[in-house]
Amino acid sequence: MYIVLLGPPGAGKGTQASLISEKMGLVHVSSGDIFRENLKNLTPLGKQAQAFMDRGELVPDDLTIAMVKDRLNQPDCQKGALLDGFPRTPAQAEALAAMLKEWGLTVNLVPYISVPEAELIERLGGRWTSQKGRVYHVKYNPPKVPGRCDVDGSPLFQREDDKPETVKNRIKVYLQQTTPLIDYYKEQGLLVEIDGTKSIKEVGTDLLAVIKKLKK
Ligand code: ADP
Ligand code: ADP
Repeated sequence: MYIVLLGPPGAGKGTQASLISEKMGLVHVSSGDIFRENLKNLTPLGKQAQAFMDRGELVPDDLTIAMVKDRLNQPDCQKGALLDGFPRTPAQAEALAAMLKEWGLTVNLVPYISVPEAELIERLGGRWTSQKGRVYHVKYNPPKVPGRCDVDGSPLFQREDDKPETVKNRIKVYLQQTTPLIDYYKEQGLLVEIDGTKSIKEVGTDLLAVIKKLKK
């Protein structure tokens, strides 16, 4: 089962993907996490992606598509994956469809987590992230020990691109380049809108319900 989590930056894609992947045994593939891992390890891909990420712009499609293809080709993704942050452009969506078609597969479901812009800014401003990509919020999802990940105790950090100026640009980029995917997947009958303004737990319950319905 291939599920694409769609939604603006700060909608709760990463938060929900962590919860769902544990509950459903689906691999969580986050393009942002893979880019950040490459950045940290100073790989050629990380170096190419850095300037785009710092400005809150999208990394070019060719680099992004090649990276995700590589990830989805790994054995743990053969039965399915929960995609978070990819695709983000129509070209990426077409590339994903073509890739899955080669394996005789398709995207099965696209939950679209909707949250109004003002709330996104507050969420990203208070986001703290672990090295492994687990996310917390100072107010809405605080860690048990301040500054430490609940799961592995590693120190939490604030992402450079969560600064207000960069956040505004990321939202602009989302509106220009990613929102066309809402209609793209709607036309394919795959889109299910989820109210992302509810609590983390409630959004999780709503998401699990649509996924379980699909499995029946
Ligand atoms: P995305 O992956 O879509 O950018 P995240 O999952 O990283 O979003 O969430 C952004 C921030 O908002 C994090 O600090 C997270 O703890 C918080 N958050 C996520 N879902 C909710 C929610 N339903 N209500 C309040 N805060 C939330
Ligand atoms: P968010 O939490 O806002 O959803 P991500 O962690 O998914 O952010 O992405 C962080 C940055 O990584 C993006 O601003 C962009 O520069 C780059 N990135 C991640 N996924 C993609 C993608 N599918 N296409 C292009 N750039 C991407």
